[in-house]
Amino acid sequence: MNINQNYLNLEESYLFSTINKKIAAFANANPEVDIIRLGIGDVTLPLPGSVIKSFHEAVDEMAHSRTFHGYGPEQGYGFLRKAITSYYAQREIGVEESEIFVSDGSKCDVANILDIFGQDNLVLLPNPVYPVYLDTNKMIGRDVAFIHANRENGFLPQPDKNRQADLIYLCSPNNPTGAAYTKEELRKWVEYANCQDAVILFDAAYESFVSDPNMPRSIYEITGARTCAIEFNSFSKMAGFTGTRLGYTVIPQQLVRQGTSLHKLWMRRQTTKFNGVSYMTQRAGAAVFTREGQKEIQENLDYYRENAKIIASKLDQLGIWYTGGKHSPYIWMETPAQMDSWDFFDFLLEKTGIVGTPGIGFGDNGQGFFRLTAFGDRSKTSQAMDRLDRAWREFII
Ligand code: PLP
Repeated sequence: MNINQNYLNLEESYLFSTINKKIAAFANANPEVDIIRLGIGDVTLPLPGSVIKSFHEAVDEMAHSRTFHGYGPEQGYGFLRKAITSYYAQREIGVEESEIFVSDGSKCDVANILDIFGQDNLVLLPNPVYPVYLDTNKMIGRDVAFIHANRENGFLPQPDKNRQADLIYLCSPNNPTGAAYTKEELRKWVEYANCQDAVILFDAAYESFVSDPNMPRSIYEITGARTCAIEFNSFSKMAGFTGTRLGYTVIPQQLVRQGTSLHKLWMRRQTTKFNGVSYMTQRAGAAVFTREGQKEIQENLDYYRENAKIIASKLDQLGIWYTGGKHSPYIWMETPAQMDSWDFFDFLLEKTGIVGTPGIGFGDNGQGFFRLTAFGDRSKTSQAMDRLDRAWREFII
């Protein structure tokens, strides 16, 4: 019996456990301080009314033999794939129903997609990065190369034509940096990928936070992307489905490598290893794309956007360099006085009772940066910024 030795080479993720330990110790020593958590990457607003109504109706359907649903199609029900197609069509993006694979969230899809690629691929990952991309490659024993995201390139690295690549991970708007590519910048990546015969794995989990119509929300807004890109999207941040679980992956029919359709390979993979998402969840998901559902999710997104604005305006006032906050729920700020990420975590907790996420937890290039999120409560977010203002003026300026 042999275990997968690659798992032993994974670095332990101490990030969130260390954060929790530090918070517990601080709370113990300072019971009077109201700790404000701006580190969370989870939504806090409940599911919209129209989603809940659809959920209830679908549960009732399961109670009668006439309307009961057993195994569904592995690729997802037609009604949901049709609704997703219309969501793209509203933005004049042509995605066919047959190109959509409904899933239980994009974390699984960005991890599982590696099943259809060979071992010898050269993988490019941005640094800092959403840790799932890195660890899933390590789990299959694959080394990756990093593309550096830093203050100089605004945490939006560009392709280097002299560098080879087979698989390229892009996430825009980005977690953790909140930075979002323009169409022109994405066009360069698409050109590069087509030129290299590479495949872009485009994570669009935060596309719904983009409010500027000139900014891309899908890689397929870029000419040429259908021959080089797979897109992942999630209902988690768009509609509050983090605990409900729903996402989808798009693989265009034209995406062919070594004479083989990647769509066909993924279909084979999914029909073998996946049995679909529950009927109720898919009904709930379809409600997101109704007129009422769209209105409701926009209200929730506006709530988070306003939180992001409150944080970003305070950083502007204090002259702090940051990315994100505009098309994203994440604000990625530079720490003051060249403090390292963990020193700043301690400083902020001790002086203000605010909790954020040290940038170093997302890769070396995150050293000296810090992630704040807009998913919290409005009044707590405002209160946190008042505390930050006072601490900054007292200790930093
Ligand atoms: N991709 C990115 C960049 C994320 O930040 C997250 C969640 O935080 C996911 C994917 C996972 O989304 P899901 O909840 O659909 O699995």
